[in-house]
Amino acid sequence: MADCDLCGVARPTLCPVKVKAPSVILAYPTGTWRGINEECLEICHEANLNRVPSNAKKCDLCGIRKVPFFQVKVQVPIFQEPYHREANKALCESCFAACEEAIKRREDERAEGHH
Ligand SMILES: [Zn+2]
Ligand SMILES: [Zn+2]
Repeated sequence: MADCDLCGVARPTLCPVKVKAPSVILAYPTGTWRGINEECLEICHEANLNRVPSNAKKCDLCGIRKVPFFQVKVQVPIFQEPYHREANKALCESCFAACEEAIKRREDERAEGHH
């Protein structure tokens, strides 16, 4: 099991998303991997299509600061009614692009699986 880097939910498999994290960009100039679950990937995709500016101070996925951010509302499970709550996250443009790549990669893999 691994925890989603966005909502924190543990899943057997997560979708790998390659982000350019400023804290480790010198060690990993091509980017580092984050893992998010399919639900969050889908939410990020929707948020990318329908961008709502966020006044967040940093990106919740790569940690970059001082760039434009956009709101991402993820569902975080809780142990009492109504069993989930909405959490406001913020993503930067480059992480949105990374999510789109992850979705595309997943679809390609699925298409290959059907042959
Ligand atoms: Zn998640
Ligand atoms: Zn980011």
